[in-house]
Amino acid sequence: TEACLSAIDGADALGAFVHKTPDRAREMAAAADERLKAGDAPDLCGIPLGIKDLFCTKGVASQAASRILEGFSPEYESTVTTQLFAAGAVMLGKLNMDEFAMGSSNETSTYGNAVNPWRRGNDTAQLTPGGSSGGSAAAVAADLCLGATGTDTGGSIRQPAAFTGITGLKPTYGRCSRWGIIAFASSLDQAGPMAKDVRDAAILLSAMAGHDPKDSTSADLPVPDFESMLTGDVRGKTIGIPREYRMDGMPDEIESLWAEGRKMLEDAGATIVDISLPHTKYALPTYYVIAPAEASSNLARYDGVRYGHRAKLAQGDGIVDMYEKTRAEGFGPEVQRRVMVGTYVLSAGFYDAYYNRARKVRTLIKKDFEDVFEQGVDAILTPATPSAAFGLGEMAEADPVQMYLNDIFTVTVNLAGLPGISVPTGQDRTGLPLGLQLIGKPWEEAELLNTAYALE
Ligand code: GLN
Repeated sequence: TEACLSAIDGADALGAFVHKTPDRAREMAAAADERLKAGDAPDLCGIPLGIKDLFCTKGVASQAASRILEGFSPEYESTVTTQLFAAGAVMLGKLNMDEFAMGSSNETSTYGNAVNPWRRGNDTAQLTPGGSSGGSAAAVAADLCLGATGTDTGGSIRQPAAFTGITGLKPTYGRCSRWGIIAFASSLDQAGPMAKDVRDAAILLSAMAGHDPKDSTSADLPVPDFESMLTGDVRGKTIGIPREYRMDGMPDEIESLWAEGRKMLEDAGATIVDISLPHTKYALPTYYVIAPAEASSNLARYDGVRYGHRAKLAQGDGIVDMYEKTRAEGFGPEVQRRVMVGTYVLSAGFYDAYYNRARKVRTLIKKDFEDVFEQGVDAILTPATPSAAFGLGEMAEADPVQMYLNDIFTVTVNLAGLPGISVPTGQDRTGLPLGLQLIGKPWEEAELLNTAYALE
């Protein structure tokens, strides 16, 4: 804990931590020491972690990197962090992210972006750590903590993991409780571990997962000891390569990384088959209707009355002026864009044309996966991202759709509620890390981690 705290103090330029909690960390570490002395040492006893700012942490600022939650310090602890701390983990502080987890570069944060600790060769230009869990990824990659929590609505764990050379797992929807995690798109949001390797991700997931009566979508299923199930033995497994993920204009480096991953699994005894997920091309438009629709509803609660920021009012302003001014000041441009898109697709005249249509296509996307799993496929191998980490400012200045295109390989997994993991498996020609994604069957995180272990 002390080593991490001093590393964090020396790494302000990375912008990974947005609230540091050294006093609490030392208290928690001392309590972990006591537990160790008493012979009661759970898996995470004394392990210092960073917590994404989307998690409510009791008595510690939890702002979802938004100005609208300025000064908000929850009275309660999220279920996932409660479980981590019960397993002995130490909280070092809160980690940077895109505002309300909307973004792929960490540049929508009210605190300013986190920075990727990696550079292109000798080039000094700063790169994005990815998003939305960019602070978590940067902190783990730069050894500021031993692991971190992330959340993934459309790729926010897997894409930053790929951009920073770490391992990130999005569990099956319902595996981890969403209680106390500030909501973005409730039917897609899942918490998961961001870690240095597959084994650490397995250990963290066992502590984070589990049924919670406070989240009606959390599954009442036993949580395996994922670490004890890691063997790296994939003999007899069938791995699918979806042809729709082979896009025009995909960089050669991503193509060859994918081929290499395929070969590694083949050499380890798995059978590789070509598969088709025919509705893949509709995944991004479907996601960018459903996620904003749910976000517009979830973000309606930030009205200047109950939480955080409230705009200064002029003489004669009424309640509507208060809402308008507060929301205009409190939400950044990307969040406002999502609220507008979401409100539009849910409006009476367009509900059927957009929202209902998207829900139907979502069912087809889910069915594509069910079909291939029924045909005997155990896991699916794809690239995690269409490129290595890009430069800060590069995409933010482009059309927002350019940024959305980054999520091309990850959003299908959330729409289908499946588990997915990003594993660092190679480098581009400038030395930047690249990741492959494995997609598993629902509730089969143990098998997914095991297959990922064979790729490591
Ligand atoms: N980049 C995607 C978005 O902006 C995914 C974000 C996430 O997974 N939280 O919506």
